[in-house]
Amino acid sequence: MWQEMNKPKMATEKGASRVLMLLGQLERLNEEPKVSDTDATRQITGKILHIIQTQEKTRKEVMSKGSSGMDVILSTLENTGDLQTTLNVLSILNELLTVGGGRRTGVFVSKGGTAILLQLLVSSSKDPLNEELMLHIHTLLFKVGPKDDITSSSDRKFGVKARLNGALNVTVNQAKHNLQNHKLLLPCLQVLRVYSGNLVNAVSLGKSGALELMFEIIGPFSKKSTTLLKVALDTLAALLKSKMNARWAVDRGYIPTLLAIYQDWHRNDTRHRHMIIRKSILGCIKNLTNIKLGRKAFIDANGMRILYNTSTECLPVRTLDPLVNTSSLIMRKCFPKNRLPLPTIKSVYQYPLPRILAGGPVAQLYSLPPGVDDVVDESDENEATEVDTENDTENEDDETGHKTQNDDIETDINKLRPRQMQSRPFDELRVYERFCLEFTQYFKDNDFQSPGSVMPPSSFDPNRHHPLIIPTTQNRRPKNIQPPRSNDSPLELDSISISKTLEGKPNPDLACSLGQLVLDGDVSVNGESGDGPQEESGDQAVIEVPDTAALLPLHDPDLYLEMVKGTRSVPAYTEVAYPDYFGHVALNLREPILERAYGVQRTKIFQDIERLIHPSDILDRVVYDLDNQSCPILDNGESLKFNSKFESGNLRKAIQIRKFEYDLILNSDINSNHYHQWFYFEVGNMRPGVRYRFNIINCEKSNSQFNYGMQVLMYSVQEAINGSPQWVRTGSDICYYKNHFSRSSIAAGGQKGKSYFSMTFTVTFQQKDDVCYFAYHYPYTYSTLKMHLQKLSGLCTSEIYYRQDELCETLGGNSCPLLTITAMPESSSNEHISQFRSRPVVFLSSRVHPGETNSSWVMKGSLEFLMSSSPQAQSLRESYIFKIIPMLNPDGVINGNHRCSLSGEDLNRQWQNPNAELHPTIYHAKSLLQYLRATGRTPLVFCDYHGHSRKKNVFMYGCSVKETVWQTNVNTSNCDLHEDLGYRTLPKLLSQMAPAFSLSSCSFVVERSKEATARVVVWREIGVQRSYTMESTLCGCDQGKYKGLQIGTRELEEMGAQFCVGLLRLRRFTTPLELHNHNSHLLDMENDLKDPRSIPNITSPTTYVLEEDEPAFLEEVDYSAESNDENDPDFEPDLQDNRVLPDPSSDSELSRQDSLT
Ligand SMILES: [Zn+2]
Repeated sequence: MWQEMNKPKMATEKGASRVLMLLGQLERLNEEPKVSDTDATRQITGKILHIIQTQEKTRKEVMSKGSSGMDVILSTLENTGDLQTTLNVLSILNELLTVGGGRRTGVFVSKGGTAILLQLLVSSSKDPLNEELMLHIHTLLFKVGPKDDITSSSDRKFGVKARLNGALNVTVNQAKHNLQNHKLLLPCLQVLRVYSGNLVNAVSLGKSGALELMFEIIGPFSKKSTTLLKVALDTLAALLKSKMNARWAVDRGYIPTLLAIYQDWHRNDTRHRHMIIRKSILGCIKNLTNIKLGRKAFIDANGMRILYNTSTECLPVRTLDPLVNTSSLIMRKCFPKNRLPLPTIKSVYQYPLPRILAGGPVAQLYSLPPGVDDVVDESDENEATEVDTENDTENEDDETGHKTQNDDIETDINKLRPRQMQSRPFDELRVYERFCLEFTQYFKDNDFQSPGSVMPPSSFDPNRHHPLIIPTTQNRRPKNIQPPRSNDSPLELDSISISKTLEGKPNPDLACSLGQLVLDGDVSVNGESGDGPQEESGDQAVIEVPDTAALLPLHDPDLYLEMVKGTRSVPAYTEVAYPDYFGHVALNLREPILERAYGVQRTKIFQDIERLIHPSDILDRVVYDLDNQSCPILDNGESLKFNSKFESGNLRKAIQIRKFEYDLILNSDINSNHYHQWFYFEVGNMRPGVRYRFNIINCEKSNSQFNYGMQVLMYSVQEAINGSPQWVRTGSDICYYKNHFSRSSIAAGGQKGKSYFSMTFTVTFQQKDDVCYFAYHYPYTYSTLKMHLQKLSGLCTSEIYYRQDELCETLGGNSCPLLTITAMPESSSNEHISQFRSRPVVFLSSRVHPGETNSSWVMKGSLEFLMSSSPQAQSLRESYIFKIIPMLNPDGVINGNHRCSLSGEDLNRQWQNPNAELHPTIYHAKSLLQYLRATGRTPLVFCDYHGHSRKKNVFMYGCSVKETVWQTNVNTSNCDLHEDLGYRTLPKLLSQMAPAFSLSSCSFVVERSKEATARVVVWREIGVQRSYTMESTLCGCDQGKYKGLQIGTRELEEMGAQFCVGLLRLRRFTTPLELHNHNSHLLDMENDLKDPRSIPNITSPTTYVLEEDEPAFLEEVDYSAESNDENDPDFEPDLQDNRVLPDPSSDSELSRQDSLT
């Protein structure tokens, strides 16, 4: 058809150029082939070649759109049996495809040129060798084959076509027979390089001897034939991506060979002119070490030391970074995997559960047969699962197979529909009436006061009354230091006052004296061990508490200690951390998000590798160990002292690695063997002015905001006593990367071969004899909550209705407070009482995840606002009845968990079917919501406060059927969706008011993995349309007023207050009708705010890809390649047709830095 249509144009067009006329003649000859025409064809092609070689515009004519020139040329090539004609045509094609970019190649490929060329290659290989012909064919093949920079015009099916046409061996043989003939060898190698980009081809080529061939060509440093060498190395690297080939090469001892060649080039290429060759050698080694055998051979060949030393020499030359980075990648891959130095990864503490649900995580945890090593799987890889065999099938139509949809989006429309069935009979729910007395209470004129706390008296159990000691790193009482004491005043045993000075100067032995603070006079110094000399009764230090009362109206150290006494922890803590005792005053100064310095990660990794290279430098001294409480504490003055035996503390072990470097291991959540992220511990015995490096070595998340400017928090007791009691962002050289400690598949969801991650930071302490605390985020203990609530209740005025109930008792025997806050009715008149009772309910909760302490600070901001005397607050109280559960997981918070409750489960995955015994707070919170719904008081708003470890800013997740359906591209015509857009109003309002809030980070998509979370269950089952999770960053903001700053408690509390103001504004947008019937239609006045078009980018795909509570990491920077992240050691590239995979090692830190901007 094509030719038919084009024929007139080519043959008869007036003024057709000479080349087109010649092509027309050629075309006629092709159509009626006669033997006698051979000469004519030869002549015509010769003429065409001549014209094309001499007149550039003729090439354009041939290749112009609509021209059938290429058809004619290819048809000639296919049909002619004449060598000279063939050579003429090949030369014509070479000329045509030399310029013109990818379009001309595209035309060639689309006309079937590749296959014709390959067939020609195979058929002519049967004849006696014609060098010129082979040269031409291979040069052309190289032109049309895909290159590293994949262009759409190159032939992506090239590799498959070559194999199917039997061309692979022909090229290998050509190369073998022309080792000295570089003119022909080079194009052959170039084509082999292209062939071997396909993994199946690589296997086949390996069998044909291509590997031997490459090893013959590559060699030590030489200034000759560097182009050839580079192509050979790249071909070899591509061939070695096949595990079978890699094994072959390792078996023949080629790893030492390659290392020697690399060293030779390193030594001789002194002016770094051949960096790319050196990088290609490393590329071969890198692929060889993808197999276990290769890693072993690398270690045996002293590869670590060789690459370490060469890299160290390359470090000063910035242009050699690609070598350092690839070397680093190889060394990390080969670094022998270690076990975590722990007897078991199960939590140090266990808590007997009233029952263990079969199939639950705890049942799994304890059902392991004795002797099963839960620290590490020896079988971290399984070479038997290799797929790289002869039977390999190739997915040749893979190009369409890419998935863009998120699997996690709920596509079952029935699961997006409300499920408002009554799960419990109302009779059972009736007991929750006691939490809703405001709906029934009768106010007498003389009984017009807020009920206040109706909590049972503190669940303080004298039998559990442990002495309380302010923590210290001192285990033993220093011999020659007398506790400072005031001269004349008797000590008040129940109250602590810290004397900051003896003679008006800071106490030089603060660290020691702090250790002697005891709450009750009748106990030993450190409460537990009792190995120190007994205190003379009452011989207590008098310490002056920094006066923070003016700054911290809700804080009271004495009250805090009282609260601690009623807090029940699994380890039965007897100590109190100073920061919680002194309190924290929010900083006034700005704490910018750190710019990550160039090369930090690389430096850290090299220091880690040095552990292996210079093992004698490593101290490996355990200085803190919860698993071995009798761990001898070396009091050599050389080591830091650690402690975390206090509420929310969770350091399990500290190991001194070098003089000023420590590996730290965090404890697992109780009744679990993982979830390490949160940390809180104390350090003492430091030297000022020295840089200490700390590595938390058992982190689990694959990335962290610590890579993007977040710092750890530090609290200095000296600073506190000097008048600055505050948590401060601190640490330099912070980074987060995959380390060489392997993770048990038991703790990695069954995945084998996983590693832990290290979070490393460096700190220089300013003060001598200080005691400092480090935390993942601003701590907020359960005892702090109780203290704040007690203080808040004291703010109650006659206008405020404030009631504190006990929602339930937790598994660990702690009380879960439930607050009710609203305005007192104006009078006992029917009208006022009726208004009082008809206020819509707003239901708030927080801190279901213990590690998300920021959510507690946001809650504190909300509570303080609600209890404040401002007119706005009063107006808000008059508008709503607030039901607030400020801490849904007290046990987790107390015991230093990151994510779970004592049941070893994530409580925010239990809302669908909470167990009354195992998940009491969730069970009763949900029941209370069911009660509210059953009594016609379905909350107007439900919001659960969380913290977010991987994103910046504050934002909300809501639930929308429509937006979920949009994301899934499901045909929406069959489901009738009339959705009230009211769920958008509150986030929109907050984005206008709260500087930390970012609307573009919000998402309203319902995910499958979230179907048991509070947000989704309250939306579906309780029918709360405005059901949200509010996520606050742990790091900082990248937009708005706080752009570029880390977040602090001031900003978090402000967010909590602004949330309340947002609710007040929401009131104006909701009609009385809607307040009672939330499914009503929109009001015009709200339309503007609810219009999805007015909300920027809200359904962008980046907002809904969620992992646990956190969206998948989508920052611009991909650090994973550097750490060889998620690449199973034996990971095989996709068997995609011919695609040349990008080299991960080229992903240097430099290029990543570029991509940051
Ligand atoms: Zn959370």
